[in-house]
Amino acid sequence: MAASTPDPAPTPSPEPIPAAAPAAASVPATPVPTPPPGSIATPSLTEDALARLNAYGRKGILAATNSPLVAENVRKYGMRFGASRFVPGTTLDECIVALKDLNAKGLRVNTTILGEAVDNAEQAEGVVSEYRTVLDRLADERIDGNVALKLTHLGLKVDEDLAYTNVESLVAYAGERGLFIRMDMEDSPTVDATLRIYTRLRDAGHDNTGTVLQSYLYRTPDDLAALAPYRPNLRLVKGAYLEPESVAYPKKADVDAAYVSLAETMLRENRFTGIATHDERIIDQVIAFTRGAGIGSDRFEFQMLYGIRPQLQIDLVKRGYRVLVATPFGPDWYPFFMRRLAERPANVLFFAKNLIRP
Ligand SMILES: Cc1cc2nc3c(=O)[nH]c(=O)nc-3n(C[C@H](O)[C@H](O)[C@H](O)COP(=O)(O)OP(=O)(O)OC[C@H]3O[C@@H](n4cnc5c(N)ncnc54)[C@H](O)[C@@H]3O)c2cc1C
Repeated sequence: MAASTPDPAPTPSPEPIPAAAPAAASVPATPVPTPPPGSIATPSLTEDALARLNAYGRKGILAATNSPLVAENVRKYGMRFGASRFVPGTTLDECIVALKDLNAKGLRVNTTILGEAVDNAEQAEGVVSEYRTVLDRLADERIDGNVALKLTHLGLKVDEDLAYTNVESLVAYAGERGLFIRMDMEDSPTVDATLRIYTRLRDAGHDNTGTVLQSYLYRTPDDLAALAPYRPNLRLVKGAYLEPESVAYPKKADVDAAYVSLAETMLRENRFTGIATHDERIIDQVIAFTRGAGIGSDRFEFQMLYGIRPQLQIDLVKRGYRVLVATPFGPDWYPFFMRRLAERPANVLFFAKNLIRP
């Protein structure tokens, strides 16, 4: 299995991540440490212009997600013309086929029932019941994988205790089957509640659970420090939501620099770290850091999304690293798909090309 294979020789790192720009006035006191001097590079004009264009594209697509007209049209045509690249199917059966295929390639997996904020306790109970079925199938089919879910899908926007009760019952159910549940991190108003629910679960003795931190939020270094006594299992991401400058770095270069700095702390101190990114420069920096610090490949894994950089996923497995592919399913794929478009505005062209193709 990939996890036990010794570390391979590193490939040369293309370009290191530049240092974070000075934090804005509203940023809390904790500064984001900059990478060592040797790793600092100034982006070229073209890179800078591209980064700005992408940032505008990202904001525009995330803002358009709430437009009923956009939603109606993308929902109508999206699955046929692009969303299937990121979502292997709308049913659990279709998803299981994809999970087995990924496992056969040496990739670990997680799955998620697509869907977000529910409006009432009955809907949330329905989601809990669907997740029990997913957990049963993962166990019965001996899939090397786990579940990642959103607390708003389990009722967080209705009531925090409701979400806790629901996720606690699922974490216990998963534990009986030797499975793990990760709670995704959603938009910034949900971060406090998500972290409270995570620590409540751990205080109640549930170790088969983890959550996610986002490097774009100024608060994340403080959140990471507060979680240290738990020796948590955390996934680190850059962050996928439209956030105001008062809470999140507006510049991608700062988000990337914060990512590297947080990743190093997490890898050094946490029980397990999911390095969730498709950013090859960061992946190379993480590989170099773990080799230098003697951190074994059983203490971390790379995590990527289904359909994004599949060759890189396989290459990392071949080099002896653990790689998990997040593979969601379900009919409610619209917001998930829009976030994928926003991450890479060029995806919109891909989507548009498919729409006009005869
Ligand atoms: C396993 C996993 C779980 C996640 N969970 C969460 C979560 O709980 N909360 C949250 O806020 N965010 C989550 N995200 C999303 C994350 O925050 C980023 O939005 C996303 O990963 C894109 O950033 P990046 O790190 O890949 O780097 P980027 O700098 O955005 O991208 C680096 C390179 O990756 C490729 N790439 C990235 N995204 C795409 C795409 N959509 N289509 C095609 N190519 C792409 C491109 O080649 C790009 O140049 C998750 C991401 C992953 C991989």
